[in-house]
Amino acid sequence: MRRLCLLLLAFVCAACTSAPVAPAPLTSTSSAFAPASTPLPTTAALANPSGLELYQVAMKPEFAAEVDRFGNAPQYQIDLTVAPDHASYSAKQKVRYTNEESVPLKEVYFRLFPNSEAYGGQLEIESLRANGVDVTPKYELDETAMKIELAQPLKPGEAIEFELDYTVQVPTQEVELGYNRFGWHNNVLALPGFFPLIPVYDDEGWNVEVAPPQGDTVFSDTALFQVNITAPAEDVVATSGVCDVTPSDQTTMWRCVSGPMRDFMIALSPDYQIESDTIDGVKVNSYYREELAEEGERGLQVVVDALRAYNQHIGEYPFTELDLVATPTTAGGIEYPGLVVIAEGLFNMSPTFYESATAHEVAHQWWYSLVGNDQIDEPWLDEALTQFTTTLYYRERSGPAALEGYIENLKDRYDRVKGTSGDKRADLPVSDYSESEYGAIVYGKAALFFNALYEALGAEKFDQLLQEYYTTYRYGVAYPQDFLAIAAKYAGQDKLEELLKEWIATP
Ligand SMILES: [Zn+2]
Repeated sequence: MRRLCLLLLAFVCAACTSAPVAPAPLTSTSSAFAPASTPLPTTAALANPSGLELYQVAMKPEFAAEVDRFGNAPQYQIDLTVAPDHASYSAKQKVRYTNEESVPLKEVYFRLFPNSEAYGGQLEIESLRANGVDVTPKYELDETAMKIELAQPLKPGEAIEFELDYTVQVPTQEVELGYNRFGWHNNVLALPGFFPLIPVYDDEGWNVEVAPPQGDTVFSDTALFQVNITAPAEDVVATSGVCDVTPSDQTTMWRCVSGPMRDFMIALSPDYQIESDTIDGVKVNSYYREELAEEGERGLQVVVDALRAYNQHIGEYPFTELDLVATPTTAGGIEYPGLVVIAEGLFNMSPTFYESATAHEVAHQWWYSLVGNDQIDEPWLDEALTQFTTTLYYRERSGPAALEGYIENLKDRYDRVKGTSGDKRADLPVSDYSESEYGAIVYGKAALFFNALYEALGAEKFDQLLQEYYTTYRYGVAYPQDFLAIAAKYAGQDKLEELLKEWIATP
């Protein structure tokens, strides 16, 4: 046991060690997962604009047409096979990437997250082709990034197709660094970042820096995913997308597609049970192991209530599904598009933290998943806004008194470094903070900036600001100046600068 829950309002950054849970015996669980209501096509039509309707099954009907905007988004088609012992998997992957930048690209990068120390796995590329031609990549950053130098620069508007075969060994012992977020533990296989992923290219060039273990790792553009997962027959699979299921004797094929999403997460276990509910046309599924049924059922209610609150105040979640999945991570919770991970045993350890962490991770569906941001270099726009957005859940659930209690907790967090050498600007990259500073400054001080803005504007105008920000940048990437430009329209430039100076730009 490494760390204890020091901070009851800590989330991804301030990890909790869950109470150890003995691995449960393998049970034979038939697929309890209801197939998507619309059957998915059996053939994958990658790189075919008319094939975009394939992805509409992951969207609520009123948002289905939005998929048509993503004909030039990266399209990933992955066939993944999980080994019977769950200690490895192999995959065949095709990616069509279109250069949507204004400059030619001489190279394309892929991130190989399983190779990072915080993931503790080992991904090996067995073959790699670009437009059908074998290429030899260059590995960088301890093999967590792979550079493919192109024979001809990829001009703006041009597309290239990559084909990759790879195998991955996953950790089966607890990963000490980071959050034990990846691998086979307690009969749960958690596979964030399991595939080679193309990062964001922006005015800094390719964003390939290695994230510090205490923060989030992925900064990528919205893409479309078809993922076919062949897993041992007893496994129940949760993913970012929607899946239908074809069982056979030893294995089950889960054929999944996503809506426009910037990442694709998978978690599976032979022990998972599922409890589901529907809110505002979204099916919410809670995946948990039998001994954690109380946690799973409580979590389902929190997700439903949080989704309702954020839909109402910010704008609608466009996808048909949202999953809450309990895994043996040592983070309180971790966000992925369409799927929220929460630590197993957290409810028994601290129901209060469990509730706030779950509501926080659901808010990340708006900030990070739908409105993307640079989680590594500008964590305040990601985590602090998410932290403050969680007050919408508390306001709806319990009224203004709950909001006050939540703000007091944010102040307590900031007080841990206020007036000390640990008090820093709130707009630094994750790597500029120690783990305790990161929790206090980004999740406390910077969240109080949004509270100050809320107090200056009032609830109604603050909601309008969030709605405009969401509508403007949904599926895209927003940088701090983008949020601040909208905020200035509501608060006025002078007031905004005063609040920035007080909470963000002053050590
Ligand atoms: Zn967070």
